[in-house]
Amino acid sequence: VPDLPDLLVVGSGFFGLTVAERCASELDLKVLVLDRRHHLGGNAYSEKEPTTGIEVHKYGAHLFHTSNQKVWDYVTRFTTFTGYQHRVFARYQGQVYSFPMNLGLINQFFGKAHTPEEARELIAKQASEFDTETAANLEEKAISLIGRPLYEAFVKGYTAKQWQTDPTELSPDIITRLPVRYTYDNRYFNDTYEGLPTDGYTAWLTRMADHPNIEVRLETDFFDQSNGVAEQFKGKVPIVYTGPIDEYFGNSEGRLSWRTVDLEQSVVDVDDFQGTSVVNANDEDLPYTRILEFKHFHPERVKTHLPGKTVIVHEYSRFAEEGDEPYYPINTAEDREKLLKYRELAKLEPMVLFGGRLGTYKYLDMHMAIGSALSMYENKLRPHFADGAELKSGGVDE
Ligand code: FAD
Ligand code: UDP
Repeated sequence: VPDLPDLLVVGSGFFGLTVAERCASELDLKVLVLDRRHHLGGNAYSEKEPTTGIEVHKYGAHLFHTSNQKVWDYVTRFTTFTGYQHRVFARYQGQVYSFPMNLGLINQFFGKAHTPEEARELIAKQASEFDTETAANLEEKAISLIGRPLYEAFVKGYTAKQWQTDPTELSPDIITRLPVRYTYDNRYFNDTYEGLPTDGYTAWLTRMADHPNIEVRLETDFFDQSNGVAEQFKGKVPIVYTGPIDEYFGNSEGRLSWRTVDLEQSVVDVDDFQGTSVVNANDEDLPYTRILEFKHFHPERVKTHLPGKTVIVHEYSRFAEEGDEPYYPINTAEDREKLLKYRELAKLEPMVLFGGRLGTYKYLDMHMAIGSALSMYENKLRPHFADGAELKSGGVDE
């Protein structure tokens, strides 16, 4: 048997790299990290578009934000952040609106100035059909928060394209990600800390893995029969698995459903295409959900960008088929039933811990994936490796 590492990590996204970094740096363990892609970093990976020098997030725009002090203290060991504050605009019927719901949007949409109090009264009247507390689905929840006219303009069409599912069948949680404000504050996130990694996501992710005890092996699939990785490690060393939980069990309980996004990238011959980084396409008849323009994420890099050109990406959302990248868990009642069965199976799996976005079937922001990996390290891995505690198998974080 060739030298076995102390720990095998499947997946080099933020979850896997956080676990690997902690175990290597704090406990001096030898960690092998596998990834089936040709690069590390999972979905946060980014690279420069070669002709323009503009950094492009390859799996969709990634904005870092957190109010978790522990996560912030941890991530700032590996990168500094720019002062970027995310703002999103919404295109609807030939106009571009200040987004998310705020006083600017309300005034623009209703064509008149409102004080915060007047706006509250107006929306309260339009929202009285449903009660926020008892709203049973996305449509009811959204209407209870912003009223029907704004729902129909800014949520209905966008959500139909994003989910291709009737909003009355979607979970009310999805919409609570969007803030509603009766001020002119149009920042997208409410968190204490926000910014973009100064020298890019890949530089940050690469520094997390830059430790003599960490080996990252790319283009290596844990399930590839021809290299026999799974057989070589299963039951012999502890494994942290961050791939899809259903795939681990050969989809025995059926596939969990996901949405994927087609990202159509183009370089266009104008210096500035839309004047900002993200414009949502709220009209239902535009086939894409939004357009990203990457140079606006880093205005401080203007001198390194080729003038007269810009990189834009149209996003198209659809149901993920086999072989597509799983992006957003759909989480229907049927999915939840399957997930419970997979969790039961996971509990029986010796020395394997399931984590991350794919391993838990949960939409996790980056700070949540990192926070959850730090907890797995503190509550399970460190007690096991440092104090000899039994590694209770199959922990899928609830
Ligand atoms: P991943 O990054 O998905 O990493 C999992 C890794 O495991 C992958 O590299 C995969 O190749 C590998 N893998 C899987 N199976 C195997 C196998 N069998 N063998 C070997 N390797 C395997 N978060 C934010 O905070 N802000 C944002 O603005 C934001 N925007 C997003 C936009 C989109 C479109 C998406 C999809 C996500 C966004 N996120 C955002 C979430 C962010 O991407 C995740 O929080 C983060 O990627 C989670 O890290 P992870 O390690 O759990 O998973
Ligand atoms: N949403 C909407 N209109 C918009 C933007 C978002 O109705 O212009 C809804 C939509 O249902 C979406 C959810 O709010 O799925 C969460 O939006 P967010 O921007 O957080 O989604 P993400 O950036 O993760 O795609």
